[in-house]
Amino acid sequence: MQETLSIIKPDGVANNLVGKIISRFEEAGLEICAIKKIRLSKPDAKAFYAVHKDQAFFADLIDFMVSGPVVISVLKGQDAVNKNRELMGATNPKEAKAGTIRADFAKSIDANTVHGSDSEENAKNEISFFFARQDIY
Ligand code: ADP
Ligand code: MG
Repeated sequence: MQETLSIIKPDGVANNLVGKIISRFEEAGLEICAIKKIRLSKPDAKAFYAVHKDQAFFADLIDFMVSGPVVISVLKGQDAVNKNRELMGATNPKEAKAGTIRADFAKSIDANTVHGSDSEENAKNEISFFFARQDIY
């Protein structure tokens, strides 16, 4: 069993897609072990995405991530990191495979509806960024 972190980004929340997206996780055998709706502060968004701080898109990414509330969850299951990445689809929704969350719901590479950890190690760090161990079931 593995855990991964999912964020339904401001566009996904604003477009009322939370239930549809969470259903996809559950239908794929991923269990919701913790979940919360919050609005990220700018410092937290910058810290969370620090790996991208030198990228040209960093400022736009941060502005977008703080533009409205997000829904953050811990998903658990077999091969959860890769399974969630497959459900999400490619970063650029134009390149995402049909049937993936980004192909079906995302409007642009900025507003691409979901975040998902990209490795087991990053998943551990990202989960502990948002959740205390005792709040994950
Ligand atoms: P992913 O979210 O698929 O793991 P990355 O970790 O590479 O993608 O990038 C983080 C986020 O930054 C992406 O989800 C996307 O919103 C944004 N992003 C990445 N690359 C670009 C780009 N070339 N132009 C604009 N935004 C980008
Ligand atoms: Mg990433």
